[in-house]
Amino acid sequence: MMMDTAPTIMNPSLAHPPPVASTPVQDAVKACQFGDEDALQELLEPATGRALVDVNDRDAEDVPLLHWAAINDRRGVVKYLLKRGADTCAIGGVLKESALMWAARQGYMTIIVDLLQAGADCLQRNTYGQTALHLAAQRGHVNTVLVVLAAGTPVSSKDSKGFTPLMYATKLRISNVDLIRVLLNYGPSPGVEEKDLEEGNTPLHWAIVGGVQSPYALSPILKAGASLDAANKAGFTPEELALSLGNQGLGGYLKTCRNIPIRARDVPLKRGLFLPLIQLLWCFGFVNTFGCWGCLGGAAGIGATSSLTYKIVQFDANWVPLGVALWSLVLIVASEAAFLWEEQAALRSMATLLPALVTLCFLYKSMATKPGYLAMDPSAREMAINRLAEEGRLNSETLCTTCIVEKTPRSKHCDTCGRCILRFDHHCPFVANCVGQNNHRFFVGFLFFAVVGISSFLWNLYSYGQAECGEWAMWRCVFGHSKFLGCTAILAAYHDVWIGLLLLTHLRMVLINMTTYESIKGRRWVDNTTHGKPFYVRYPTNCFRFFFRPGRESGRMAGAYGRVPTQDLDMMGKKDEDALDSMEGGASRDGGMNANESRVV
Ligand SMILES: [Zn+2]
Ligand SMILES: [Zn+2]
Repeated sequence: MMMDTAPTIMNPSLAHPPPVASTPVQDAVKACQFGDEDALQELLEPATGRALVDVNDRDAEDVPLLHWAAINDRRGVVKYLLKRGADTCAIGGVLKESALMWAARQGYMTIIVDLLQAGADCLQRNTYGQTALHLAAQRGHVNTVLVVLAAGTPVSSKDSKGFTPLMYATKLRISNVDLIRVLLNYGPSPGVEEKDLEEGNTPLHWAIVGGVQSPYALSPILKAGASLDAANKAGFTPEELALSLGNQGLGGYLKTCRNIPIRARDVPLKRGLFLPLIQLLWCFGFVNTFGCWGCLGGAAGIGATSSLTYKIVQFDANWVPLGVALWSLVLIVASEAAFLWEEQAALRSMATLLPALVTLCFLYKSMATKPGYLAMDPSAREMAINRLAEEGRLNSETLCTTCIVEKTPRSKHCDTCGRCILRFDHHCPFVANCVGQNNHRFFVGFLFFAVVGISSFLWNLYSYGQAECGEWAMWRCVFGHSKFLGCTAILAAYHDVWIGLLLLTHLRMVLINMTTYESIKGRRWVDNTTHGKPFYVRYPTNCFRFFFRPGRESGRMAGAYGRVPTQDLDMMGKKDEDALDSMEGGASRDGGMNANESRVV
């Protein structure tokens, strides 16, 4: 059968195209280039007489037939040749390359999978000592890089010039973020400190030589631990190299990088946790001294301390919102205990203090519980990559290039945590953690008891003001009695409103089995039958699973896509499955059907 796409009729490394001739081998080469299986079969297995061509015959340029089929993405011909016993390790062309290398240079993923399954050696090297991985990295073929890595090529293998695939990638393809991430994250040692033999450049040097413009493009390699002090053979550090090449902006950026703690290297600085306490007390003190106008001074103080302290006392800003939540709670409890506690009405105060204690417990649980990370052991990862490649679905939608794991329908990568989170809801700065499959219920508990406790505090305050001064003068009375108490009241009212609204949206999402992320990105789930609720089963089932079987649904959903992460299955025992099935009756089957109909696009 003739293919209508124009074939690649020469290896880029060849100086001349094959001479036009009508020898049987030349006809076979042409059949391979054009994907003409019938013509090829006629030459290799004629109906009558002896075969005119052998499957391992070569053309005048010493290139085997398999190479021509591979470089032209003729999958049918490749499969036919492999079935006929073509040598997968044969080398050909000026650069003495294998068919796998020719396909890798072009990025033909399915051909590469076929060749590897037929026994092609991914460790073979050409005359420059380059493997298929080097060639794919040079051309920026992320999928091919993944497949040859999964086949066992070491990620930091060097060619005869001492270049690793990462050096080629940073030099030629620095803007290809997925490629850089895969090379940095696939193995335990990505080789960011390696130097080539000629110039002694590290991958960071090569990125600068390659003309990187955006400092953002360098952040993955800097986070992976690239040294800012490594000098090349000419004695230049990356910063000096950027300046010598006239890239002042990049040089300046690399200079400031020395002062920024890189999270991969440094322990997060939790001093940020205490900044809100200082700020709140500062603000309260101002109001206490200067009355209502003190609010302005307090607000200015918060702004100034936020920027100043960050520069003077370095800390991880991720801990600041958690500090706000924690210290607000402490101030409310302190106000309740100091001003509103009465012997006769101790029960009323307990209605604030007990929920505050429970809130604190749930805050801790939300913070300390791992949200559920998507993880794969190396062998499962290799199988997943091969399967996705074979199905032609290997891309950044199905595989996380940072974690190198196959995504599940409800997982999402969190840049702050640097991990893929199961049933991702959102990254919550107030608990300094991702809210996902395993801690979402604790987060909802935190919101619920916070609203109960704060509302009770405000009610006690209202009663207190009413008793002291009568209804109309209440707020003036509270401020008159203690400005500190007045400040806490404003803080509490503010928290009550936004936490209350957040609680309502989360309760609604628990009922319909959605996450915040899915609500925002609702259009990703094409869904004609479930009215925008692709994971809905039944209200009681949704709630039961949310609070008592958080791992279960993720596994079922993953199953609906034919992808079951081992971790999910481990988390739900067989017994739980049976118990739930008997409890839910037909509802879960409906849920399964609905799940099948929705697709991530
Ligand atoms: Zn990830
Ligand atoms: Zn996160």
